Amino acid sequence: MHEKTPTPDPAAPLVVDTRKLPRTPGTYREMRLDVPSFEGLGLDLIGVPKEAELHLEFTLTSVTEGVLVSGTLTAPVVGECGRCLRPIEETSVFDIQELYAYPDSATEETTDEDEVMRLQDDLIDLEPPVRDAVMLGLPVNPLCRADCPGLCPDCGQPRDELPADHRHEKLDPRWAALGNLLGKDRSE
Ligand SMILES: [Zn+2]
Ligand SMILES: [Zn+2]
Repeated sequence: MHEKTPTPDPAAPLVVDTRKLPRTPGTYREMRLDVPSFEGLGLDLIGVPKEAELHLEFTLTSVTEGVLVSGTLTAPVVGECGRCLRPIEETSVFDIQELYAYPDSATEETTDEDEVMRLQDDLIDLEPPVRDAVMLGLPVNPLCRADCPGLCPDCGQPRDELPADHRHEKLDPRWAALGNLLGKDRSE
């Protein structure tokens, strides 16, 4: 027998009661949920802030083995560009797909506890798939824009905030060429 995970708390914001969903395979219900974010929804450089609101739109579908949840999570994401270190603030959409197996279904019998989610007392806990969707969906190397030019290697300022012709004299080949023409060695 599998070790039972604790029954979801029906009052928890991400716990959904599926009793109103008819058990005939193929039957579905559309749902929307606005719930507060929670701790730990992010990586080092980017994540969903704790005080944010998570917006879920999903379909609960009865399937032979249980209840399938499929939909999206929309949430604000804040972080720091991995190249220029400037702040990133955007809204991200994460895909959610999760099967909650019926107790005593073939899926339940043939999989381990941690391989597939379970329906317990007709309740499903969306927190694990929400967490997975965010953690897998966030970029490991977040960028403020795909072609962010990063920082000037000499002064450390974001190139996006510098004029297009920003240069430092010692690295500018034109100045070096001019220096040679004038017979001066400008290198140090
Ligand atoms: Zn950047
Ligand atoms: Zn510079």
